Amino acid sequence: MKIETKCLHEGYERKNGDPGALPIVQSTTYVFDSTQHIADLFDMPTECMYSRFANPTVDAVEKKIAALEGGAAAMCTTSGQAASLLSVLNLCNAGDSILAVSSLYGGTINLFAVSLKKLGIKCIFVDPEATDEELQNALEPNTKLVFGETLANPALNVFDIERFANFAHKNKIPLIIDNTFPTPILCRPIEFGADIVVHSTTKYMDGHALQGGGVIVDSGKFDWTNGNFPEFTEPDESYHGVVYSETFGNIAYIIKARMQLMRDFGCYPAANSAFLLNLGLETLAVRMERYCKNALAVAEFLQNNENVESVSYPGLKSDKYYERAQKYLPNGTSGVISFVIKGGRERATRFMDALKLASREVHVADIRTCVLHPASMTHRQLTDEQLVAAGINAGMIRFSVGLENVDDILDDIKQAFANS
Ligand SMILES: *Cc1c(COP(=O)(O)O)cnc(C)c1O
Repeated sequence: MKIETKCLHEGYERKNGDPGALPIVQSTTYVFDSTQHIADLFDMPTECMYSRFANPTVDAVEKKIAALEGGAAAMCTTSGQAASLLSVLNLCNAGDSILAVSSLYGGTINLFAVSLKKLGIKCIFVDPEATDEELQNALEPNTKLVFGETLANPALNVFDIERFANFAHKNKIPLIIDNTFPTPILCRPIEFGADIVVHSTTKYMDGHALQGGGVIVDSGKFDWTNGNFPEFTEPDESYHGVVYSETFGNIAYIIKARMQLMRDFGCYPAANSAFLLNLGLETLAVRMERYCKNALAVAEFLQNNENVESVSYPGLKSDKYYERAQKYLPNGTSGVISFVIKGGRERATRFMDALKLASREVHVADIRTCVLHPASMTHRQLTDEQLVAAGINAGMIRFSVGLENVDDILDDIKQAFANS
């Protein structure tokens, strides 16, 4: 199946007489004929037992997203933050470190730099354009993974997935990619060597600004028995001595995340949330095409405008990342544009306040056009130094182009320039 078809047909398998639409299984529990059956499920969780870590509606969505990304299995979470957190905790203990590029979503930087540190996990930040030699020098003996973001929010630099995958694999550790902005419609990191993919489904996947969510996708390709990950090859005492890599083969990573972390932390979405997410996924391919088309037109307008200092949109031929985007995102670079308005921080806020169609909100990748000022909003917690490292200027506006008629979006921008 091509990806547009997968959006509609993967996940929920309909048998004779089944409901046509994905059913919402709103139940915390599942009943079984015998005690032995339940005991067997503890050994091999092939059916749902309890909705803190598995539910049939969520399961169908997990299967769909795994298929879209070309992965072996997936696990949904209640937010993108939870997905990023669990993707790391599944591989690291106190005393370990991770290597992450500095051009990440602000919330991820905070999670890695501040909260993981409290848990005893150190994050080594590196420049996304660092040479292989610099990367090698930054690595420590206890570094368990490399983390990057395909299309950084909000700097919009394109991450060189393949190069970082080769670097990680040379060091026998996996590459985790946050693929939120492109979605699997525009980029499938596993095809370029990524081992684990995470998403905030809150953005384009949900697509309608209805609910938060996240997902972790396991490529099924990483060799956890290479000696660096004893938790996969030694018995888990908290799970009656299971050896994940032996019992679960190529889905060991996701099963471990589910049976250890989701079991213990319980940040699992409700069935109703998965149902709504599935609605978004069904139209994802069609929507992404339109977002990209609208955003390219807006980016082209902005790049020639006298009110604008610079525009970042990797789909623009003049963009620093255009060549790389042609490799990783040949069908478009999402609906998100970052631009720096002339007049700095104050003009940026005046422009934002003058917009009439576009809404000011703490969101991105909404179905409707929306704007945000990173320096005073999402990235407020970053120091000036971290702001620069994350590629953010105080006059930068993150403009998330929606699915409206593009002429209306352009008219709104024009009048806001004139009135700010
Ligand atoms: C929004 C976002 C997150 C965090 O997701 P939530 O669903 O808000 O927790 C992580 N990564 C990227 C790239 C994002 O845009």
